[in-house]
Order: sequence, then structure tokens, then C-alpha cells
Amino acid sequence: MTQINPTRLTSGKWHNVPLSLPGAPGNSDAIMHCFVRRSRKPGPTIFITAAMHGDELNGLEIIRRFMRSRKLGGLQGTVIVVPVVNVHGFGMGSRYLPDRRDLNRVFPGSAKGSLAARVAEVLMQEVVLHSDYGIDLHTGAIHRFNVPQIRAELDNEVVEGMARAFGVPLVLNSELREGSLRESAGQNNIPVIVYEAGEALRLDEISIKAGTQGIINVMMHLGMLNGTPKIRKEQAIADNSYWERASDSGVFQCLVKPGTYIQKEQVLARIMNPSTMEASEVRASRAGVLVGLTQLALVYEGDALFHIARYRGMHEDVAQQVERFHEELGPEFGT
Ligand SMILES: [Zn+2]
Repeated sequence: MTQINPTRLTSGKWHNVPLSLPGAPGNSDAIMHCFVRRSRKPGPTIFITAAMHGDELNGLEIIRRFMRSRKLGGLQGTVIVVPVVNVHGFGMGSRYLPDRRDLNRVFPGSAKGSLAARVAEVLMQEVVLHSDYGIDLHTGAIHRFNVPQIRAELDNEVVEGMARAFGVPLVLNSELREGSLRESAGQNNIPVIVYEAGEALRLDEISIKAGTQGIINVMMHLGMLNGTPKIRKEQAIADNSYWERASDSGVFQCLVKPGTYIQKEQVLARIMNPSTMEASEVRASRAGVLVGLTQLALVYEGDALFHIARYRGMHEDVAQQVERFHEELGPEFGT
């Protein structure tokens, strides 16, 4: 490890370790702040990253609450958290870097590459490659809400164990995307799961609560924290998903709730065309559970409106699970 060396850090508290990145024009270096906590007891190292896409903010609040958790008193091993990976994008409220690249498509990065590649390389060399496990926190893109869900490659047994232990009712079996952190870590035999919840530029209380508990659950499952993870008996595994798109341009009125079971041919929305003042219906071409949807009321023909995942068997049960989950975590603010 070039900059982070946990063995030199006193155990039982958080240490802020600044990592230098290429700066903005006219400014000195930008800094990626890592917080490291180790225990005296030996154990594995886990990393938790957020704001890889600079406008995805739920992960910051999840990490803040996690860092204050009393459970950490029983830590075995080392935790490295990076609340803002995409420092440059974050400062602009942007998903991307100033070079317009998506940081999560350029891993493992390169010290001699583009700005994005250099940032990826710092995270890879300083954090990921010194870890045994990882959790990468994301939200939906701008104006797109994701029901809290885990995305993971479930063919890998360790990954599947982490994905289930996280404890949210929806798990999407998703292949590794080229250039993603998850792919690069996987190639180095470091299992990583992705938590997707909420929407860019907004904080969502249910997503934050479930995410904070999810990290603690995974660390319990890995033997890094004391206790047993609160795992839902019925978790739904989806093998594929599709987007239902707008059939017309106009004002979009959503008629369904996120997390609910959608039947084939069910009317999901109306789109009102202002030139005719007529409304057309958007129907589900296939059954499934609504795991993500647009938040915009103005849509163009072809826009992706509803993300529907197809679960193995048990559709109504899944929807009930999701509903119960939302009730349990209810929106209480102020933690
Ligand atoms: Zn993201």
C-alpha cells in the first residue's frame, strides 16, 4: 500500500487518509478522502465506496451513519470507506468526470491514461487491491428512482452469500459490466456487490436505512462484526429485466407504485399529448416487479419509463415482501 497503511494506524478509531488525484485547472491536487478503521483483532479487509457517479448521494449518508455505528466496537479486521470516489464529478453535481467519462467504465484505470483512468487507478491501487471484499453504493441515474436492490454476479458463491446477507428483498443477478469496479475487482478475486437505491441528487430515507443495515449485515455474515444478519426469509432473485418505454411524447402520469407486482398488459401510465389533449396508455408487455421508474412528468417517445425485473416464480410474494420492507423501514427522519 503506498499511502494507506493500516498497520501504522491506531486501532479502534477512524483515520482520515487523503489520496492525491489530478486537480482541476488552476488548482492544486484534488483529494479523495478515505477513512480507515482497523481492529486489534485480525480479520479481513472490506472497502465501501460511494459517489462513483458524482451525483449519487445516498451512499455518503449511508457511510456517515455506518461510521458512527456502535457495532464497530466489535470489529475484526479493517474497513476502508470512500464516501466520494468521483471527487471531480461530485463538486459539479455530475455523474461524470470533467472529461465526460463515466468512471465506472474505465477500471482498472491507468496512471498514464485519461483523468478518469487516473482516478480509477488510484482507487484500485490504494483501496481495492488491498481489500478482500467490497460494497459499491449507487443510486438510480438522475430522475430515475431505484427500489433498494442488490446487483451481483450470483454464480460466485461468496458474492451470492454477501448479496443475500445484505438483506434487501430484491437481488438482481447481473453480469459484470466491462470497465466497472465490480469487474476489475472480480478479476482480482475480490468479491464485490453493488447496492442500487434511490435517485441521483436526492436522499431517500428508506434507501439509506436499508443500506446502512445492509453493510452491517454483510460484515456480520463475513465474521467482521458480532451478531447475526437480519436476513429476510423470502428474497427474490431476478435473472433478467427490461425497460418499458414511452409510446408517445407528452405529460406522463404514473399509475403504479415502485416495488409492486406488475401483470402482463397492466396499464402502468397515461401519456397526455398536448396537441390532441388525448391520453394514450402504457401497458406492461411482460409481468414482473417494478424495480425502477422515471420521476419526470415530461417524456419523449422512446424514453425508458419503467424498469421491470422478472423474478423466478413467486411474483406476488416478492411484491408483498417489498411492501413489508417499506413499511418496516418507514420514513422517519433526523438520524
Ligand atoms: Zn451509479
